[in-house]
Amino acid sequence: MSIIITIDGYSSCGKSTLARQLARELNYLYIDSGAMYRAITLYFLRNHVDWAVVAEVHKALDEINLHFEYNSHTGQSDMVLNDENVEALIRDMLVSEHVSEVAAIKEVREFSVAQQQKMGEKKGIVMDGRDIGTTVFPHAELKIFVTADPAVRVERRFKELIERNPNLTIEEVKNNLELRDYTDSNREFSPLRKAADAVELDNTHLTREQQLATALKWAQERIQD
Ligand code: C5P
Repeated sequence: MSIIITIDGYSSCGKSTLARQLARELNYLYIDSGAMYRAITLYFLRNHVDWAVVAEVHKALDEINLHFEYNSHTGQSDMVLNDENVEALIRDMLVSEHVSEVAAIKEVREFSVAQQQKMGEKKGIVMDGRDIGTTVFPHAELKIFVTADPAVRVERRFKELIERNPNLTIEEVKNNLELRDYTDSNREFSPLRKAADAVELDNTHLTREQQLATALKWAQERIQD
């Protein structure tokens, strides 16, 4: 039996690493829902969309086409926005600074969630984000809520970003993570919450292999049920 696995948690907890590894082990589809919110944010910024104006948001969403495309060099799926591969661009600090504000907009969430639910129709999917176990797939067979010590998360994100952005400071990364976590947890629509039936995985002291082994055991139990 194929199942749906949801992975939610705060920013930079290692959700996408775990989701990708799990999908590979199980031969499932991996979907990075955050990439969709990032691509929408990039479109809004580039096109000077005033997202405080609902009509402007509607008009912009009508012009946005999102899909994932397999990248044979990396073996991962890239985010494609209106035929342009934006996988690298959406990781920029400018997008990170605005994405939580854009992701809090009701219309943006409805647009994204509808597409995410469609992707899971056939099951056999691992999706990571903030509201996947609560809103997108409330009936998922396995829901994981990932946590990690805040200082460890800042360190991990900084190491990831510094390669492409040598001027970045650890303070900037820390402030961005704190602000995003706050905005994501306190927004009106689908705030970041641990689903009541989610299992918590604190990976502060776990290696990637240990984290995967734990999650894989849970997945195999659910698949056999
Ligand atoms: O996962 P990532 O950090 O790339 O997500 C970027 C932002 O997208 C989050 O900070 C959050 O504001 C938004 N997001 C969301 N719901 C999701 C996934 C991401 O609101 N399911």
